[in-house]
Amino acid sequence: GSTLEIKNLHVEIEGNEILKGVNLTIKGGEFHAIMGPNGTGKSTLASAIMGHPHYDITEGSVLLDGKEVLDMEVDERAHAGLFLGMQYPSEISGVTTSDFLRSSINAQREEGNEISLMNFIKEMDRVLDELDIDKNMAQRYLNEGFSGGEKKRNEILQLMLLKPEIAILDEIDSGLDIDALKVVAKGVNEMRSNSFGCLIITHYQRLLNYITPDQVHVMLDGRVVKSGGPDLAKRLEDEGYEWLKQEAGLED
Ligand code: ADP
Ligand code: MG
Ligand code: MG
Repeated sequence: GSTLEIKNLHVEIEGNEILKGVNLTIKGGEFHAIMGPNGTGKSTLASAIMGHPHYDITEGSVLLDGKEVLDMEVDERAHAGLFLGMQYPSEISGVTTSDFLRSSINAQREEGNEISLMNFIKEMDRVLDELDIDKNMAQRYLNEGFSGGEKKRNEILQLMLLKPEIAILDEIDSGLDIDALKVVAKGVNEMRSNSFGCLIITHYQRLLNYITPDQVHVMLDGRVVKSGGPDLAKRLEDEGYEWLKQEAGLED
């Protein structure tokens, strides 16, 4: 398995410091959850790690098996085994979901070792079944006119086909009804292995009833202020974030 180490990460957007020194280590075989109120920098963390150009990294580092991710081009990050599920996945007109997935898989592979069309279709059909996705979706343009739930399932479809070393999943539960949530959770759970580590960003505890994290971290005001086991998520569900704000001296 791989290890992703986030060390003292500081990130600014347009001169405003959003992340103020985030430290977090995710190893293969581990599921970590980050929770926190809206606007505390959870998505900023995900976007900065994946190299979104609007985010200025002013301090710190992100190491994948000791290699500096922040020095890599965006496509190199995917090639190195990182996967980012977007909170708001984009539409790509003119590219079918199936073509997009196949070229994504091949982009991760060495030249001459591309997946054959037959093996790709076999693998895709298996995962489509697994995720209860209508086979026709694969022939539609990527995310175009997809419902919120379809976009999320599509993201998990990508995850299961690409088999990254480390995935960062940002609010994969938002806008899902309970059945879709279970399907998405089943897909993520099926990925569990020593060669897969996952950072699950969520606003609500609900998702964590279906995907049990090994560790839960709470982000407040651009920092991880508390880490614990799954019980921490339950306590947040019952008591909210106020007690943690007080503990962290963030009461206003
Ligand atoms: P979360 O995912 O925890 O809800 P975000 O990372 O989306 O939080 O946002 C953290 C803070 O950064 C918020 O105050 C938000 O307004 C600000 N922010 C996010 N994206 C931008 C942007 N593109 N330009 C300016 N400010 C932004
Ligand atoms: Mg948000
Ligand atoms: Mg967010």
